[in-house]
Amino acid sequence: MRANPDTEKTPWQPIPLGAAAGLSLLAAWILWQHFFTADAWVFLLDHANLALHEAGHPVIGIVSSRLAVYGGTIFQLLFPMLCAHHFWRGRQAAGWAASLLWLADSMLNIGRYMKDARAQVLPLVGSGDHDWTEIFSRWGVLAHDVRIGNGCKFLGLMLAAYAVWWIWRRRRQAGTPVMH
Ligand SMILES: [Zn+2]
Repeated sequence: MRANPDTEKTPWQPIPLGAAAGLSLLAAWILWQHFFTADAWVFLLDHANLALHEAGHPVIGIVSSRLAVYGGTIFQLLFPMLCAHHFWRGRQAAGWAASLLWLADSMLNIGRYMKDARAQVLPLVGSGDHDWTEIFSRWGVLAHDVRIGNGCKFLGLMLAAYAVWWIWRRRRQAGTPVMH
C-alpha cells in the first residue's frame, strides 16, 4: 500500500518549547507513577482508560460473548491509537506525541493487570472475573503472567521514551536554519 502523497508533503506543525517540556514532564510522571508508586495510577489518563475498558467488554460482547473478555484491553489500546492516527494524518506533532504517551500509559496499565493474573490482589471494578486469569488460562500461559506483564510494561516504557525522543528530535529539526 502506498502512503497518501498529500500527507507525505504536509510538514509537521512545530512543537512549542512549552508543549515539548510539558509532554516530557507528562512522560516522566507516567513512568514515575507506574514504576515507583504502589497505586500505579495516572490521574485523568487512567480514569479515561478505566471508562474505556469497562465500555469495551459489553461492546465487544455484542460481537461475540467469548471475545467479551478481550474488550476492555482492546478499547484501552484502540482509542489512543485512533487519536494517534488522527494527529498523524493532520501532522499535529504535539497531539501525536501526546497520543503515544496515552498509549504507553495504557500499556503500562495493562501490564500491571496481566501481572496480577494469579495473585489477584488488585481491586477490580465491576463484576465478573479477572480478565487476565481468564485469557492466560485459555492460552495456557497463566504460569508466565508476571513475565508477560513485565514485557508489556517494558513496551510501554519504550514507547514513552520514543515519544520524548521524537518530540525533541522534531524540535531540533524544525530549528535547523533553512537556506534560501
Ligand atoms: Zn476487564
